[in-house]
Amino acid sequence: MKSTLRMIFSIAALFGGIAAAQPLTEGKFTPFPRSGWSFAESTHHFDVRHYRIDLDLPMNSGAMTAHCRVELIARHDHFDTFSLHFVNLVCDSVRRDGNPCTFTTGSGRLLIDLDREFSNGESLAVDIYYRRNAGTQNRGFYYYARGTQGIPYAICYSTTEPSDARYWFPGFDEPWDKAERGCQVNITTPDTMSGCANGTLDSVTVSGGRRTCWWTHRYPISTYLVTFAASRWARFTQWYHPAPGESMPIINFMWPGDSSRAVNAFRNVPEMLEFFSDSSRYGPYPFATEKYGHVVAYPFQWGGMENQTLTMVHRYWITNGNDNGIAHELSHHWWGDMVTCLDWRNIWLNEGFATYSDELFTCHQQGLSSFYTLIRSRARDYFSEESTDTHPIYAPPSGHEFDWGHSYCKGAWVQHMLRYVIGDTVWDRPGVFFSALRAYGESLKYRNASTADYQRICERVSGLDLSWFFDEWVYSYGYPVYTVGWQSVPAGDSWELVIDLSQNNMSGAPAIFHMPVEVRVLFNGTDTIIRYPVSTNPQRNRFRFALEPTGIEFDPNEWLLDVHTVNTGIASDQAGSPLPPIPELRITSLTRAPVKIEYALPQTSPLELTVFDPAGRVCARLRSGNHEPGRFSIVWNGTDAAGRPLPAGVYLVRLSTPEATRVARLTLLD
Ligand SMILES: [Zn+2]
Repeated sequence: MKSTLRMIFSIAALFGGIAAAQPLTEGKFTPFPRSGWSFAESTHHFDVRHYRIDLDLPMNSGAMTAHCRVELIARHDHFDTFSLHFVNLVCDSVRRDGNPCTFTTGSGRLLIDLDREFSNGESLAVDIYYRRNAGTQNRGFYYYARGTQGIPYAICYSTTEPSDARYWFPGFDEPWDKAERGCQVNITTPDTMSGCANGTLDSVTVSGGRRTCWWTHRYPISTYLVTFAASRWARFTQWYHPAPGESMPIINFMWPGDSSRAVNAFRNVPEMLEFFSDSSRYGPYPFATEKYGHVVAYPFQWGGMENQTLTMVHRYWITNGNDNGIAHELSHHWWGDMVTCLDWRNIWLNEGFATYSDELFTCHQQGLSSFYTLIRSRARDYFSEESTDTHPIYAPPSGHEFDWGHSYCKGAWVQHMLRYVIGDTVWDRPGVFFSALRAYGESLKYRNASTADYQRICERVSGLDLSWFFDEWVYSYGYPVYTVGWQSVPAGDSWELVIDLSQNNMSGAPAIFHMPVEVRVLFNGTDTIIRYPVSTNPQRNRFRFALEPTGIEFDPNEWLLDVHTVNTGIASDQAGSPLPPIPELRITSLTRAPVKIEYALPQTSPLELTVFDPAGRVCARLRSGNHEPGRFSIVWNGTDAAGRPLPAGVYLVRLSTPEATRVARLTLLD
């Protein structure tokens, strides 16, 4: 019951069953190595440029007669044969420039022998005349008769992710060979019906009781995003204004009886378009010269499918609404359609990004507390799935590409954590994380991307080495399970807070997640948040405060996909090792120059002893470099590096070693 519900309410089980049924790669088209591929063309021996598909649908059965013209470029010399994916279809003839070609079918392929040889770089087009017989099993291409399951009109549509386009047209059916010049899908039906597809409707012709709708899409497209749907459609159009004076239609197709509910269900789509396309978020909608839109499918095994410029949604989304789902599919037009995962090992680049997008829209529309409620429930979905279905989000096992808990929920959490790690944490001010997303979008626009591409671009934009992050969160599985202990102890005229952090992660997961952590330290009547790096397991940190810490909250702003328990009190000894020795720093806090600074160092260590003003400017460097252990005192005469006396006021003296940092406040009197 739960899974049925979830299938309707979310994108959850959307693709769960499909991938399991068939291996994702076939024959010689083996998966790519983990890195080193950023542009996938020329990875097979031809490059598809355009698909034109003409469908003739009787609509009283699942039969179809069809023609597909594939335009391609040969990618080696002596190119005289090639194959296309082709399943459950019957080929009648193949021609090249009017000349008949011989062909064979079988093993999911249409193998074509050309009428002559082509050389590397030469263009050619082949026309394939084919059909689908009535009674063929619904897959990739779906037909439902009027009256079955309460359907008011016969319906015929395609839905094909990941690898089912081959069930309705011959093509190179892998995501990494986009047809750069787009596609044209022309649908002929009885004239009481009509067809919709990607792109814009160029014209409609009616003759002899048959109607043909001519649809053209001029952007690069992967085969799994090519679509059509035919039935008796009502339609309504909304408008999105990308800029003053510019308008783009949002065209929605549904059964006539559903139209008023569809108006309600899609009412927020213009706002979603504005939200995502904002220059501080994803940037312009990538197909703005054509359209966005929806077509309703029923029965439909998924919730929604982001077919390029024409998202297909379950009828339930119309009757009951689903802003999360609708926002998710729209956001795929940046992450999935404009930038498409290179292969199914990188599916989290589509699904994790779209899932985080619908969380962001929820935050925009309903506020931060709804956002946290949503991401918490998705964290729980991931934890429960990981307990029985353990795998990384990168290169999930065959059949697990569309696992809700992993590719969607954890994928979205990886985006959220990346945002935290690269320091973009002010909610109403999208910053460097979104700059990285836009750079990723710009540099791979209308192309394919791998996880390595995304990492490289995030590193370039943020200036950080993120290899540890991707290794732990994307290429490995699991999540940190923290136990946090804390204790505060008086230390002279201040308080020392000791925090122990240990990780007891699932077997096979990284032993240490190196995520920096945040802790809210509570005092009587006030609090502060500290953030610190994690490099060992277990790890003990000490922090000095003027007030007595009375409690802590771990990860108060929910940046981590983790499970944690917080205990009061610390172990005197962690895992048999002695407490890490720490340096000490003592000065008289209210004084006149010269200032006596006392410090102690427990072991030989690099050391920096510096004086700052409250704005963070370095006023004087007192010691640096390797330093022997012991107790020391030095006298600072209150001057800067050039020997000029510093004005009276507040200064900070900082002693840092690789193990710890000590800061003391100093008020220099006149
Ligand atoms: Zn999705």
